[in-house]
Amino acid sequence: MGERSRWIADLDARPGDAPELADRILRRLVDAGIVVAGRTDCVLGDVSGGHAPGPAAGSVVMGDPAGFPDVWPNGMEIDVGRGAYYGTMREDDRVRCPRCGAWLPFETVLDAVEEWQDGGPDSLACARCGVRTGFNGWRWPVPCAFAELGLRFWNWPPLSEAFVADLAARLGHRLVAGSFGT
Ligand SMILES: [Zn+2]
Repeated sequence: MGERSRWIADLDARPGDAPELADRILRRLVDAGIVVAGRTDCVLGDVSGGHAPGPAAGSVVMGDPAGFPDVWPNGMEIDVGRGAYYGTMREDDRVRCPRCGAWLPFETVLDAVEEWQDGGPDSLACARCGVRTGFNGWRWPVPCAFAELGLRFWNWPPLSEAFVADLAARLGHRLVAGSFGT
């Protein structure tokens, strides 16, 4: 069975400030009762534990707050470092060049993103116009983001726009929100 994650990626976090921003975000979410402070085994990502939903978790999602799913995993993880935040892409999906509209198969872009995660460039040159564009600048068919800092909420209902906007305002950063999985 596939798991769904909701994610929020910070496009403006830099390698030098991402750890401190992660701490700030966690303090804010713990103070608001959205997640609990301690780490437990409640996420699937490549991190050492996540933060389980707090008493006010239902206030930041859409739908019935009482309908918060009682499943595993249901925690929030904070990812610091180069991370790819994909929407639900199909293998035959295409990614378009913002300059000339030429498209690349998702597979090609995926390879370039994996190289970036291993220390490579954060951009891709278009085969038609030759212009190099950062991954976040390409036109994705569903929201995708490539960032130094992100939050993943495992199996949470859709996050409210107000929650994402409030977080963006507090950070003064561009955030992208999306979801992955079925
Ligand atoms: Zn192009």
